[in-house]
Amino acid sequence: MHFTIAIIGRPNVGKSTLFNRLVGKKLALVDDRPGVTRDRREGEAQLGDLEFSIVDTAGLEQSDPDSLTGRMRAQTEAAIEGADAIFFVIDARTGLTPTDRHFGDLVRRSGKPIILIANKAEGKVGTAGAYEAFDLGLGEPIALSAEHGDGFSELYAAVREAL
Ligand code: GDP
Ligand code: MG
Repeated sequence: MHFTIAIIGRPNVGKSTLFNRLVGKKLALVDDRPGVTRDRREGEAQLGDLEFSIVDTAGLEQSDPDSLTGRMRAQTEAAIEGADAIFFVIDARTGLTPTDRHFGDLVRRSGKPIILIANKAEGKVGTAGAYEAFDLGLGEPIALSAEHGDGFSELYAAVREAL
């Protein structure tokens, strides 16, 4: 069976960096269908010996100061709906924000398996920040650095367990 994992989280937490690292050169397509899926990117992820489809969500236009537009919500909900599991990403450096908590409620309500990722967790600052993510009530966060490539064996173990 082939699985799909959606990467969910507020803007700037490192979702696309994670997507690019998992997909590498195997980026399959950039989906330019109109409407809510316009910013959706889907590719084939490789994580150890695991292969699965992965969906990146843009969340929100960079210029939009509003935290939760209808469009962002629709895109996020569509991605959650189509996924077998969720990578829910927060930024270990900035700590939890109200928008993180809002997205957290959204993914929790889906009832799908959630893998909580505290990204940007390289170094001491990041490790400390990752603990705050426990507060979401979504289980134990995986301290990851999508940019530096740290924590991917822990992510592998979590995906194995979830799927
Ligand atoms: P997205 O909006 O959630 O897709 O986030 P991006 O992937 O575009 O990343 C937002 C910013 O965070 C960029 O400047 C990235 O270089 C940076 N970033 C992503 N992952 C990491 C990480 O693991 N560590 C650090 N320090 N920065 C990161
Ligand atoms: Mg992005």
